[in-house]
Amino acid sequence: MSDLHQLGVAQLAQALAKRDVSAVETAQHFLARARSHQALGAFVSINEDVTLAQARAADAKIAAGNAPALAGVPIAHKDIFVTTDFPTTAGSRILAGYQSPFDATVVKKLADAGAVTLGKLSCDEFAMGSANENVAVPAVGNDRAVPVRNPWDTQRIPGGSSGGSAAAVAARLAPAATGTDTGGSIRQPASFCGITGIKPTYGRASRYGMVAFASSLDQAGPMARSAEDCALLLSALCGPDVDRDSTSLDRPAEDYSRSLNDSLEGLRIGVPKEFLGDGVAPGVRAAVESALAEYEKLGARRVAISLPRTELSIPVYYILAAAEASSNLSRFDGVKFGHRASHYRDLADMYRKTREEGFGDEVKRRIMIGTYVLSHGYYDAYYLQAQKVRRMIADDFQNAFKDCDVIAGPAAPTVAWKIGEHGDDPVADYLADIFTLPASLAGLPGMSVPAGFDDGDMQKSGGGIGKPMPVGLQLIGNYFGEARLLNAAHRFQQATDWHQRTPAGF
Ligand code: GLN
Repeated sequence: MSDLHQLGVAQLAQALAKRDVSAVETAQHFLARARSHQALGAFVSINEDVTLAQARAADAKIAAGNAPALAGVPIAHKDIFVTTDFPTTAGSRILAGYQSPFDATVVKKLADAGAVTLGKLSCDEFAMGSANENVAVPAVGNDRAVPVRNPWDTQRIPGGSSGGSAAAVAARLAPAATGTDTGGSIRQPASFCGITGIKPTYGRASRYGMVAFASSLDQAGPMARSAEDCALLLSALCGPDVDRDSTSLDRPAEDYSRSLNDSLEGLRIGVPKEFLGDGVAPGVRAAVESALAEYEKLGARRVAISLPRTELSIPVYYILAAAEASSNLSRFDGVKFGHRASHYRDLADMYRKTREEGFGDEVKRRIMIGTYVLSHGYYDAYYLQAQKVRRMIADDFQNAFKDCDVIAGPAAPTVAWKIGEHGDDPVADYLADIFTLPASLAGLPGMSVPAGFDDGDMQKSGGGIGKPMPVGLQLIGNYFGEARLLNAAHRFQQATDWHQRTPAGF
């Protein structure tokens, strides 16, 4: 089959189970695509021997008639999940040469479900970024670090920090990928690349083996083309892991596909007024409005709500995430993992030089901010205050959920910007996280669903934005509301075809 890459996870799993195609053939097809689209910079490591060995094992299970649900389905992992068969860099020079002695729980669970690993995908260094421009390791086929390119317009960023995952799925280099979301890193790149991605309730997916950025926020989740595919993957990767992750929830795994087709009759969709304010690009607003109109046709009811502290989520997140990062990243000292400076005077000098050489600018900036807000004299004014506001943001959501079942709005205020457009201004990137941060701070599940394109019509006098770029509708649920979110997304995807659009040339 020459068009295998057009199939999603559910369709591929079926074709593999019926033996219309073999896992080896499927893996070879996707590996060949990854090689022929190296210019996107999506993959940072590929190992054909490993992938094909996994595919042969999947074929053997299918032949024996005892294959698990995802047997032979290829998947690629964000390079922030540790893997025994591929190096793990988290996009950083400081992990150069690091090989994990164990697999992350998410990786293991997907492997147990039969998935075949295609390779590792580029991400912002330690998942800090919104554009996949903060990368310090070379992509496959490149001899230096390169930003990942958006398949819809290769002059633009794919979003971040799971930019490699989003670009690979959008370009059909993999039917699905894993991502992590600390402040939006699954939802925002899914939105910018026109794919579907979901971050579950905090604690639902194990953080074991996920290189830590901000532990009270980090969550794993799937990125694929449809809600149906995300449901299959999420069912496989979630579940308790209480012996290995102290924040893992002791609650049995669920079948998220069970209610995909439930009716949306009477579903109350809350639209926060703060999510459709002045800062939202007209084309984004228009796409979100027509998605909401589609939901009304499907029987849902639109309810006006307010999340009054939306703007505060930016300073709160950038204080708390930096504080946690400064602590988590203290383990990279040249002793235990990866890079060590080769010339130094004494131990303190070795630590200093290793970290100076190993970390990129954005990571250093966060470590400095984090250390500052945790230091004596500033702790109360910044860290403690931010914790208090975090709680108020979570309370605002509980208040809102009295009036609605699901919250909807844009995943980001604009479409993907041009590579280099934000220059040396990190705050421009931070501000773009405004609509994803609130759910992260509250620990709520959230997803992004393709909802149209922004062709920049309204801005044509200023040159327009060039190619039409995807817009993502964000859906936020209450705790453990993943099945409801996937149901709402699936019904929308049965009524629309945005998620089936493919970027030209892929
Ligand atoms: N853009 C946010 C940041 O830079 C979120 C990143 C993430 O979710 N990993 O921190």
